[in-house]
Amino acid sequence: MQLSWSFVYPGRYLFGENCISDVKFGSIGNRALLVFGRSSAKKNGSYEDLIAKLTNDNVEWIEYWGVEEDPSWSTVESIAAKIREFGAEFVVAVGGGSPIDAAKAACVVAKTGASWDELFSNPKLEALPLVAISTTSGTGSEVTPFSVIKKDDGLKEGFFNVNIYPKVAVVDYRYTLTCPKSVTITTALDAFMHCFEGYCSLRTNEMARMMALHGMKLIIENLDNVLENPVYEEGRRKLAFAASLGGFVISMTGTLFSHAASYPLTVYYGIRHGEAVALVASKMIVYMEEWILRMLEKELGIENFSKWFVNWLEELGVFDHLKDYSKSTEDEYLEWAEWLLSGTRKRYFDVTPAKIGREEILKIYEELKVVE
Ligand code: NAP
Ligand code: FE
Repeated sequence: MQLSWSFVYPGRYLFGENCISDVKFGSIGNRALLVFGRSSAKKNGSYEDLIAKLTNDNVEWIEYWGVEEDPSWSTVESIAAKIREFGAEFVVAVGGGSPIDAAKAACVVAKTGASWDELFSNPKLEALPLVAISTTSGTGSEVTPFSVIKKDDGLKEGFFNVNIYPKVAVVDYRYTLTCPKSVTITTALDAFMHCFEGYCSLRTNEMARMMALHGMKLIIENLDNVLENPVYEEGRRKLAFAASLGGFVISMTGTLFSHAASYPLTVYYGIRHGEAVALVASKMIVYMEEWILRMLEKELGIENFSKWFVNWLEELGVFDHLKDYSKSTEDEYLEWAEWLLSGTRKRYFDVTPAKIGREEILKIYEELKVVE
């Protein structure tokens, strides 16, 4: 735990019903590019609200639809091309983490012409302003300085840049009422993992721990009720807040080994982000420093965190999604371990309170394969 730390959040955080009405789009610029996923924004009310507000604020816009889950570098490039073509002065991203992350990267590329290598190595590149409207309760990307992009011929990578903090975050839980069960589960697990990892991180601090604990509690207390009744508004509201708390937490602490090591599961075996991270974590926990888990158990009132966590994932049906993964091979694990232990991924090991090297990585991937 860090005893000296700072908390910088250069954005404006808006939470609650119809909070979009507080965004002064006209003061950000006159021309905007709107970035969406495939179609959910037209069904959850966010598109309609945004168009009404932009019209009211006299902002001109064009729309980019179709950002895929786990957005690729080519998607980022085509969004950046649209920004330039239209002469957009700012960007509004609507959706889950995928459209928001793609827009964050495109805001840098459009402003600076950065290549992949530059984007991932220079955290000071300038970016166009971004407004992020979240429609899932998961990544917290609406309040983080991170973006995760898939290389066209390879794995996902996260980059950090203070200039990609969304200028305004709009978190209106009503937009999440339409999330299907599968999206609700994987995004809640992502938010939970951000809180768990931030709580345990060697870079944590008292404020991150406080936010992380509250976030974990909100998810534990509300996820079941929301799964039973997807339009349970109070539960959705709490999950939305928990997700932003997770975002604030990782903005201070970063994520741990379980995030980085989950990327091959998502890219090569189609396991969604939050579930992939939780699955890796279920195997990582045995290597973690005992005292951190004991402290967390005490704070959450859980007797044996590791057992509880596995049971929880079983109840949520997460292990059922490992069917394709059972075809994975040792050669792949070796390749993934190489990737994890090289380049900038070293930073994840430095902050994870666990003794994990090549041997442990291989064991973690192997053990996931044999899960029933
Ligand atoms: P997502 O990939 O943005 O969206 C998942 C699915 O949910 C899509 O099919 C989307 O449909 C649908 N969806 C979104 N909102 C919906 C709604 N309100 N109702 C119904 N369906 C809805 O999911 P995500 O989990 O939020 O984001 C995952 C990405 O974020 C990953 O790439 C991950 O690596 C990244 N991530 C980023 C950070 C960060 O700090 N930047 C942190 C963690 C993870 P449509 O396509 O139709 O919209
Ligand atoms: Fe995540």
